[in-house]
Amino acid sequence: MTKRHILVTTALPYANGAPHLGHLVETIQSDIWVRFQRMQGHDCHFISGSDAHGTPIMIQAEKMGMTPTALIESIQAQQAKDFADFYIEFDHYGSTHSEANRELTAAIYQKQQAAGNINKRVIKQFYDPIKKMFLPDRYIQGECPRCHAKDQYGDNCEVCGATYSPMELLNPYSSLSGAEPIEKESEHYFFNLQAFTDFLKTWTRTGHLQAQIINKLDEWFKEGLREWDISRDAPYFGFLIPGTTDKYFYVWLDAPVGYMSIFKNEAFWQADSETELYHFIGKDIVYFHALFWPALLHGAGFRTPTAIFAHGFLTIDGQKMSKSRGTLIKARTYLNHLPAEYLRYYFAAKLNDRIEDLDIQFDDFVKRINADLVGKFINIASRAAPFITKLFAGKLSSQLAEPALYAIFEAAGDDIAAHWEGRRYSQAIREIMSLADRANQYIDEQKPWVLAKTAETVPSVQAICTVSLNLFRLLMIYLTPVLPQTAKAVAHFLNSAPLTWQDKATPLLDHVINEYQPLMQRIDLKQIEAMKMAEQTEKPAAPEQSSFITIEDFAKVDLRIAKILEAEQVPEADKLLRLIVDIGEEKTRQIFAGIKAAYDPATLIGRQVVVVANLAPRKMRFGVSEGMVLAAGPGGADIWVITPDAGAAAGMKVK
Ligand SMILES: [Zn+2]
Repeated sequence: MTKRHILVTTALPYANGAPHLGHLVETIQSDIWVRFQRMQGHDCHFISGSDAHGTPIMIQAEKMGMTPTALIESIQAQQAKDFADFYIEFDHYGSTHSEANRELTAAIYQKQQAAGNINKRVIKQFYDPIKKMFLPDRYIQGECPRCHAKDQYGDNCEVCGATYSPMELLNPYSSLSGAEPIEKESEHYFFNLQAFTDFLKTWTRTGHLQAQIINKLDEWFKEGLREWDISRDAPYFGFLIPGTTDKYFYVWLDAPVGYMSIFKNEAFWQADSETELYHFIGKDIVYFHALFWPALLHGAGFRTPTAIFAHGFLTIDGQKMSKSRGTLIKARTYLNHLPAEYLRYYFAAKLNDRIEDLDIQFDDFVKRINADLVGKFINIASRAAPFITKLFAGKLSSQLAEPALYAIFEAAGDDIAAHWEGRRYSQAIREIMSLADRANQYIDEQKPWVLAKTAETVPSVQAICTVSLNLFRLLMIYLTPVLPQTAKAVAHFLNSAPLTWQDKATPLLDHVINEYQPLMQRIDLKQIEAMKMAEQTEKPAAPEQSSFITIEDFAKVDLRIAKILEAEQVPEADKLLRLIVDIGEEKTRQIFAGIKAAYDPATLIGRQVVVVANLAPRKMRFGVSEGMVLAAGPGGADIWVITPDAGAAAGMKVK
């Protein structure tokens, strides 16, 4: 067998949130494939990382009061940890926000520019005059031009299903500031995808894509390829376009380049490379991976992907995942309630090589884990092993009593290997479970528990259980890509080295095994309910799309009219006065207020101010501040505490 050199990638998850079960459809699917290749003795690299740029990350970081870099680093660490805990065995989990990616993106862009594939042109876009930024469609809301439903997003109406350009929305507003957006012109950079039409027509039809994708692409070719806007105006979190000071590469340009910069191996990317490159992606990003990406690579003199493996979306109990319906389950929440391998097994049992959505039905999930994985597969070992330990000091027979049965199981391995290779995982699982049925049937027929009762028949118990455990071992080999942790435990139980695919040819005989310990537990629907409940009761994360607070948020602010009892300068502070205020109910508070330049402290005593009484106390250099005085004005001396302020008119202010 020739050793293959393979690079596998998953799409890079966006660095604005924790992974959820939807992400795991892809990472688990690709990890199974990678583990299978590695078991075959191939050199298979596996990388992924955070997609770290773009407006949503910039906005979210701002809302969370942190820098985009701090946000993406913390999310990257969380993604890497969550995936590792699902036994996703990446060689490297990187980020698109790196110097290496900046250089490579610029180099690819400059090659395209030198080849005349970059155009510049002025376009009109919505602009938020308060946030002083151009607005991506997702941040524009307004009234549907067709059915007049309010608060619809920039490109489609959730009420009547109409699609439109954000410019057509009635009474549009920015969801970031609430301001009415204005139309503003800006020069944008475009990648001339049309120049690659002939190349792409050939490339897309020569074995790199699934049939369903090819059909979809034919529609796009019929409409004609269009140039691709690859620039965004400042402010933007990303890489500056070389030669500009306020234009950034659109996140979708530098994201796929991340595959190259995260996997730093130049030989792999050369145009004449004999290595293999596979991208596992969701069906929503086919356009980028099957058109832009090969065109970018080809135009810049690099190799193109060997194949793109697209998959469908995850639904839960037949419904699209949704935070509000409580059907969005984060990877970490799942791990807090259930073993990672159960999800790996369930996904494997449902995945195929076509672009179909995958539904988790939790009743079915519980049934498959309990009846198939535990009840059929693990059951073989738990039935046979105790006899070997108790009656034969852990030793297996020196001969295989049922070579024909073993041969059937061994031959099935080739079929199963072909299914793993072809990503027909559900077929592989079906075959494995039908073999498990057969192994259990063998034990049922032989009845070792009866034979163990009579001295003359005891020796045959060793033969039967040796056959059973060898069948179990074959099934474990076939399931290793799906159940890597259990495979380790089974290797320990069998007192053997880690299982390889080739081990199937040589049964384990005349060999002492370790005492059997339970390998897996059945699950209960209650665990599922607890997981769903945990997700629903968790405090929702900061809103992603809107910076407005709700009336409920506002109601949390305890505003009170307070009377100033004491006021004095804080000599060490430039701006602060120390106030003691009476907030009612005979309670007083110390508050440091930034109104030193505006008021002589003596004039404040006895006056009323509005304070936020439930602001968390804040320790300052001069003492603890236990609230906030509301004031208005442009700043400096022109600040007024908001009460009928006769003092200001009467010249009581400092100046
Ligand atoms: Zn509508």
